[in-house]
Order: sequence, then structure tokens, then C-alpha cells
Amino acid sequence: MTNKNYKCLCLSVFASALATVSLTQAPKKFSIADTLRGSINPARAWWNVQRYDLDIEPDFSNKQLKGTSTIVYRVTDAAQLESMQIDLQEPLQITAVLLDKKISIAFAKSGSVWMLAMPRQAKGSDHEVAISYQGKVHEAIRAPWDGGFIFAKDSLGRPWMTVACQGLGASVWFPCKDHQSDEPDKGASLTITAPDTLVAIANGRLQFTRNNNNGTSTTRWAVVNPISTYCLIPYIGMYKKFSEVYQGEKGRLDLTYWALDYNEAKAKSYMPDQVHKMLKAFEHWFGPYPFYEDGYQLIETSHTGMEHQSAVSYGNWYKFGYRGRDMSGYGWGMKFDFIIIHESGHEWFGNNLTTKDLADMWVHEGFTNYSETLFVEDVFGVKASNEYNYGTRKGIKNDVPVIPVYGVNAQGSGDMYPKGGNMLHSIRHSMGNDEKFTQLLRGLNRTFYHQTVTSKQVEAYVSKQGGFNYQPVFDQYLRTIQVPKLEYYVGGGRVYYRYTNCVKGFNLPVVLSGSNTRIRLLPGTGWKNSAVTAAQAALLTPENIRFMYYVEPILVEKP
Ligand SMILES: [Zn+2]
Repeated sequence: MTNKNYKCLCLSVFASALATVSLTQAPKKFSIADTLRGSINPARAWWNVQRYDLDIEPDFSNKQLKGTSTIVYRVTDAAQLESMQIDLQEPLQITAVLLDKKISIAFAKSGSVWMLAMPRQAKGSDHEVAISYQGKVHEAIRAPWDGGFIFAKDSLGRPWMTVACQGLGASVWFPCKDHQSDEPDKGASLTITAPDTLVAIANGRLQFTRNNNNGTSTTRWAVVNPISTYCLIPYIGMYKKFSEVYQGEKGRLDLTYWALDYNEAKAKSYMPDQVHKMLKAFEHWFGPYPFYEDGYQLIETSHTGMEHQSAVSYGNWYKFGYRGRDMSGYGWGMKFDFIIIHESGHEWFGNNLTTKDLADMWVHEGFTNYSETLFVEDVFGVKASNEYNYGTRKGIKNDVPVIPVYGVNAQGSGDMYPKGGNMLHSIRHSMGNDEKFTQLLRGLNRTFYHQTVTSKQVEAYVSKQGGFNYQPVFDQYLRTIQVPKLEYYVGGGRVYYRYTNCVKGFNLPVVLSGSNTRIRLLPGTGWKNSAVTAAQAALLTPENIRFMYYVEPILVEKP
């Protein structure tokens, strides 16, 4: 990315973020492949994924993969097409498809899309389709920025494998319905056959490990909760684990930490402290950790990190900051482990609430960026959190709107992180009621528990629960690149104010509090005025406004 100050952490593909930029700037011609990948077309609409059971055997030396992806699905539309779209990216190849354990199914390939010739099935009936596949697998070279299978070596030269595929999609390594809107309602399992000298880990809980007496062992892990396909991930290496039980809001939560064997001592003295602080802060602000049934695992990886559900990737070198850098410029970013906090924040925003379309990814990244600010507030206080949030603002480019086009698997601009976080900080302060704001965040996680959502649903929820029409505010920050200007002046015991450089009807309230006074303004795009005491007027400094609100405050001469 061109912006060195703020790297987008969970975008798997920098190149694709750049592509989004250029596509949005110079209107875009999306291909049929983009539409097939990014929309719910008729070959995807008639069936709903119930489960994935994935069985794989990676070949480290040849960078190949073979396996079977078994998809249990429910027929949801009687007028189903006879085609079922399965996504699997080259160079992997499907070799056989078996329906309900007995019917061999014909298939045809077009790029990354495979159409299976299915018989007609009754609406409401459940079936399973087992898709065998194999071949070379696309390798990530700069994970997690480019997606793919990762064939790394640890510092002792031993194999260390995993996957990072957000944006690019899980179809880069297994056959699936590669669209965020359809999560497996009844969970998923991942069965890994690997050299028996290595440890194989995946999401959720261990089901069994079996030595095959041929130099390999087979290990199965499973989650009971819905999960995004890009979050179902194997980790294979020379791991050691340690575990503990955390007493959380919903009771006992199993925490398991996995580090490379030679980092075990370092991990023991480092990881639990950050994870405990994270859980304390986020359960307070967002509600209970959303996956108690599957536990929480933190797993060391060769790449920076990723929010893999209940099996969070960690590659931040056991150092505070983001690989040793402060994301805020105020020093606060060097006082916690950015990857543990940020990627775990996604358990609530990204994994609990998941957007249906990648274009709405600000819901994942904006709220999770703001989770960093809330974490800083919990641990270091209000001044620290305001500075942290304001400090991340320097990463906003405002070159293209946060939300790109829908239906073509386009992801939002990198601004979705700091601009999303700054928008939420502004909305919070405009409410002037932290209890209400906390309940709003918790309500989002409760109302949309384990669901896929649209940005519009989230926006409507915030307006309803916030008791104010925030639609122009969302439109301003998510759909334009202008930063609103708050023009104001004080005179004769009154304050005069208006917004410019903004969408029609932009109406972000400005609430400022001092030790024993407070002021609430409801600016619009025309001049308004209200009575103000000297103490209230003293609150109206550009610096005060700037730290609480993502607007440009301008003290003007009386017009
Ligand atoms: Zn993220």
C-alpha cells in the first residue's frame, strides 16, 4: 500500500486493495468471474450450507494438497436450478463428486467456478456432497497480504504450514461456497493428515489424533458454531501448548495458547496477560465472547496475524506495538500487543457479526479498529484512548469512499480501519452517554448473534438504539471522501455554528463535557445559534472538538 503509516492488517491482499482503488477511481469493468464470485446467483441461491467437513493432506515438499470437502446443505428453493456452483481456485482441481455417499455427479469447470450437475431435490431436504480435489495449491508469498497456503520453515528449518485467505477466499485451498453470506449453520470440522513429527491444530476443539504408523498422523478439530470459510484454518508445525480457564461473563472459557516449541517460555510469560486484559475489556464493551463452546486459541504463525475464529493467528514476535511500531504516534500503541488485541476484537466484529458482502467490510475493520481505542481506554484511561484514536486518523487517505460496489467481491478501501474507528468515536461522543453507547455495542452483538449482516442493518440499528438519525453521518463517512467542516464563533453570550463540506442533512451532534459543565450542539448545514455560558464557551476549542469528532473545526470571524 502507498500509506506506510497505516497498514491494513486483515486485508489479505494488498494488491487487491490497490485494485479496488483504481477500479473505483476509474470506473470499473467487472468480469463475469467477479460477479460469479461476489454475488448470490441462481446456482448458489437454492442451497444453504449446513456444515463443512474438510479432510486434507498437505505435501510440504511439493507444495501440493489433496483432500475432500464434504458440504452438508439444505435445499431452500423448490425451483432450484440443476447446477450447483462450487468455488475452487486454480491450480487445484476437482477429481470426483459424490452426492449422498452414492451418486456420482458430473461437473464442469470455468475458471475458478465449478458447476455440478445435480438432480432435482425436494425443498427442505438435506444432502451432502463430497468433493475430492488435489493438485498444486496457490502459495502465499507475502502472507497475510497476499492469500494462499503458507509453506514456511521455522528458525530451525522445520516445516511450518498454515493458510491466510481473507478477501482472496477459502476457495484458494478447498472447494466451498465462497461467499460470506452463507456460513455453515451447524459448524465445521477440519481433519489434517501430516507428518507425525508435527502438531496439527485447527479451529475449535480437538476431536481425535490417530497415528497412521506410516510416518503420518491424522488429527481432527471441530467448531459447533457458524464460521466464515476464510476463518477455517490449519496450523501445522512444532507446536507446544499451554491452557487455562478464564472466568468470563458467560462462565468458564477455555484458553489454549500454541507457540513454537522454542518460544514456549516466552509465550507463557507474555500471551495470557494480554489475552486476559483483552477479554476483560471486550466482554465489558461488546458482551460475552461469542464462542464459549469452541474455546479461544491463540496460535503462533509465520505471518503477522489474522482473526481466524476461535483460533486466532499470532505473528507479532511477542512484542508490543504492531511488530514494534506504534499505530497512534502518541506512544499508546507501544503499550500493548496490537495483533492480540486487534485480531481478537474480530471475534465480536467479523466473526460474530459477519458482513454478507465484502464491500461492507468496514463493519469488521471499523469496529475492530475502534476496539483498540476501547482497549486503550480500559487499560490506560480516557485521555490515552482519545489520543490513540486521534493518532490513527493520520492513516486516513480519503482517496476513495470506504464502501465500494457490491456483488463483485470488492473490499473497502484501507480507510475502513481508521476512518471507521474515528466515525464510531464521533458517534459515541455525539451521544454523550457512554452507558447507552456500551449497550448499543452489546446490543449489536446480541441482536445479530452469529449472523451475517449488511452495513445498512448495522446503520439502522445504531440510529434506532442511539435515538437519533445517524444516516447522514454514515453516508458522509462511508460513502464520500469529504471531511466535514464545523464552522463556529462565539459572541454576545451565544455560539453560532454550521457544517460545510458535507452531505445534505449532515447532522452529527457535538457534545463536549468539562469538569462541571457540558454543552450539546445540534448543527446542520445552515447557521444555528444557542445560548452559551463562559464555562461552556471555554469547552469549544478546536483541539477539544478535534479529539472527539472527525470533523475539521474552524473558528470563523462573525460573517
Ligand atoms: Zn482487522
